[in-house]
Amino acid sequence: MYMTHDFTFKRVMIKLTGESFNQANEKGLNFDVVDAVSRGLLEMRERTGYEMAIVVGGGNLYRGREANTQVDKATADYIGMLATIMNGLALEESINRLDKKRTAILMTAIQMNAVAETFYRKTALARLEKNRIVILAGGTSSPFFTTDSAAALRAAELNCNIILKCSTTDGVYTSDPDQNSEAQKYKYLNYQTALEKHLKVMDSNAFAICQNEKIPILVFKAEDLGRVLGGEKLGTMVADVPDEMF
Ligand code: UDP
Repeated sequence: MYMTHDFTFKRVMIKLTGESFNQANEKGLNFDVVDAVSRGLLEMRERTGYEMAIVVGGGNLYRGREANTQVDKATADYIGMLATIMNGLALEESINRLDKKRTAILMTAIQMNAVAETFYRKTALARLEKNRIVILAGGTSSPFFTTDSAAALRAAELNCNIILKCSTTDGVYTSDPDQNSEAQKYKYLNYQTALEKHLKVMDSNAFAICQNEKIPILVFKAEDLGRVLGGEKLGTMVADVPDEMF
C-alpha cells in the first residue's frame, strides 16, 4: 500500500500517451526516452511496491483521427492500434533490459502470437499478483475507441485503484490556460463537476467507466511522469471528492 494525494493504492493503472515515447516535437520512438520511462517505473515499483498495469498509447506514431478524410475510419483506427503494439514492445524490451528480473510482460488486445501474448484477464490478474509489470497494447481491439477507453476498461476489470494519466497539460483547469490567463488548476476535481463544466479529463467513454466504478484519475503532464512517479504532488486528482484548487 502507498499514499499519494491522500489516497492509498495497491494496484495502479498507468496510461502512457504516445508522447511519453519521445521528446516534444519529435515523431516516432526515442529509445533513450523509453529507457528513462522504464527507469522511473522500476524505481516507483521499488519504492512503493505498487502492482503496475500499463496501457500504452500510439500518438507518437499514428492516431486514427489524423487520417485523411478519404481513408476508411475503422482502418485508420486499426493502424493506430498497431502503433500502440510497437510502443508496448519497445517498453517491454526496455524494462526487461534494465531489470535483471525481467518482470515486464506485454499482452495485446489484438492477437499477435509471434510478438506477445493475447490479453486474457485471469492471466493478467495472476501476473499482477506476482508483481510483474503488465503492459497492455492494442487498445480495446475495437476501432472508434481510444487508449483512454482501454485504460479505464482494463483498470476496472483488473481491479486497479487509480489511473495515472499522462497528458499534454499539467492538470485540469477551469478553462483553457492558453486562452485565459485567469484559468485556475484543480488539485482535486469531482467527477460531477468535470461533467457539468465540460472539463476534458479523458474521452467520454473512458470517463463514464471511471465515474461509475469510482476509479480516481490523476492527470499530469507526460514530461512530469518521473516526478509523479517520484511521489511529488503534481497534477489534478479527479475522484469522488470535493473540488479544491491549487
Ligand atoms: N485506437 C482504437 N481503439 C482503441 C485504442 C486506440 O481505434 O481501443 C486507435 C485510434 O486510432 C487512436 C490510436 O489507436 O488514435 C492511438 O491511440 P491513442 O490516440 O489513444 O494514443 P495516445 O493519444 O494515448 O497517444
